Amino acid sequence: MIENGFLVSSNKENDENATFWRMYHDIKYRSVFEVCHLVVMPTYECDFKCTYCFEDFNSLEGAREGLVTPQLLLNWVEKLWHVYEFKALRIVFYGGEPLLRKELLKNYVKVMREWGTQKGVKFSFSIITNGALCSEEFIQDILEYGLEEMQVTIDGVKEVHDQRRPFRNGKGSFEVVYSNILRVANLAINKLVIRTNIDEHNRSRFRELVQLLKRDGLFLKKNVVFMPALVDPSPSKPVWCNQFISKLFDK
Ligand code: SF4
Repeated sequence: MIENGFLVSSNKENDENATFWRMYHDIKYRSVFEVCHLVVMPTYECDFKCTYCFEDFNSLEGAREGLVTPQLLLNWVEKLWHVYEFKALRIVFYGGEPLLRKELLKNYVKVMREWGTQKGVKFSFSIITNGALCSEEFIQDILEYGLEEMQVTIDGVKEVHDQRRPFRNGKGSFEVVYSNILRVANLAINKLVIRTNIDEHNRSRFRELVQLLKRDGLFLKKNVVFMPALVDPSPSKPVWCNQFISKLFDK
């Protein structure tokens, strides 16, 4: 592999090696050149206790928050920008539940928006949320800072969703999440993604959810994207996904 040039020395002094490393670096970071994508978690906490959540909240207890202040985020972005001179910056806020830290999130986007305007960098952001705290007032408030997209998960009709995605106190979350979805869909947001995690436990009632979204006109809205996601927690049972898909297209 050395003879054929597949493996090269990490010594960059030699011209040929230096060229190789420059090419490697360019390819690795090419996506950064035009648009810089960042993911920020304002908190590890969540107000839900979904049956399939992969977050280990016990191990996160005591995890330090608040380390990434808006100023620190700005410093990082600025350093990256000096190297890559990207034209656009996109941040995804994720958690835990990012809307548990609304003020912090608002400060992040305010600071980044101002910086973007100064530097001529187009700033936009999206939020992945469980949907319980996305009040109309808050969403209206942050739209002006570049909110482009929100993703909210609804796993079925009331009975199904409440069983899978309850609040931490055990109360069902369907009513509040669904009414927020209906409200946000009417705002001037570019994209509202309604995600549904489908697995063996809720697949038989998927059609009822589709009927509900249809009844409430959500499929007719240009800014709404329905994103059913087949998830199978057991890698040993991938077969049902295929069976499910073929049944969906049966009728
Ligand atoms: S909303 Fe997300 S982070 Fe919170 S419990 Fe559910 S899956 Fe986990």
